[in-house]
Amino acid sequence: MKTIKYLTFSLVIILFAGILASFLKKGSSVYFVYPDGNTKALIMSYDDGTIDDIKLIRLFDENKITGTFNLNSGLLGTTQVWPQKNADTLVYKYLHKDSLLSIYKNHEIAAHSATHKDFKNLQDDEILHEVDTDIANLNRLTNRKILSMAYPFGNSNQHIAKLISNTGLTNARIVGDTYTFNLPDTFLLWRPTCHDSKASGLLDDYISLNNNKLSVFLVWGHSWEFKDKRRWNDISNFCKKIGNRKEIWYVGCAEFVDYQLGLKALIKTNGSIINPKGNKQLWFKQDGLLKVLKPGEKINIKMN
Ligand SMILES: [Zn+2]
Repeated sequence: MKTIKYLTFSLVIILFAGILASFLKKGSSVYFVYPDGNTKALIMSYDDGTIDDIKLIRLFDENKITGTFNLNSGLLGTTQVWPQKNADTLVYKYLHKDSLLSIYKNHEIAAHSATHKDFKNLQDDEILHEVDTDIANLNRLTNRKILSMAYPFGNSNQHIAKLISNTGLTNARIVGDTYTFNLPDTFLLWRPTCHDSKASGLLDDYISLNNNKLSVFLVWGHSWEFKDKRRWNDISNFCKKIGNRKEIWYVGCAEFVDYQLGLKALIKTNGSIINPKGNKQLWFKQDGLLKVLKPGEKINIKMN
């Protein structure tokens, strides 16, 4: 009898020690998260601003997905014929300039240059003119700050990125899919995860991703490509599967970058993390709880 009592007592002690140890271990873990407490984010970045955006936006809205729409303000309201590499031509109908605020009500409006010229064939002053004009036009038409851009044809380089760094843009997307969910090294030459035609192949990987590291799934494309029925079915299925989820932050490029810049401004010292005055409010998890770090506040962390 005594032995049984002793064994039970020992078991309780072991159990208690285990719980205490796991609690202490948890207590030392602090990691920063996105504003909704998640570590995963989805950005859908679409170019050109043709009338086909209307149908795509309906799909995004149904699935609580946020888009960034990169527009050529100098082409709004026009119809253009674009020759293709395969000797075919494509006819694009661009949205009317007065319709932007109602169509992109829940989405980010971004630049794509005024008239979609290839920057690699332009002089510096011509590039700046294309970018500045687009930003000014879109700002005047929407009264919104224009902070994001997709380079026309996705073409850019270090020199062009430096050139546009004083235009007020915080980010600009290029071609060159990474097929990863890693955060970019530089936001002015931002390589996306993949074109939407490849997105379904990465869908399950992203949905099952489950760790404390911040990530982003950046998909890009053109809504005019969805005239093809098969392509439309693919994007519909993708949005239905990845949308409406609690564990993903649906966000536009500018808001995403703004938060990342806020995180970059944190000051880390031995034993503490300081959010400097004037920075934005940031979210973190400590002991599994979602907490806010306001500007001017600090977290004391246990050092291992
Ligand atoms: Zn384009």
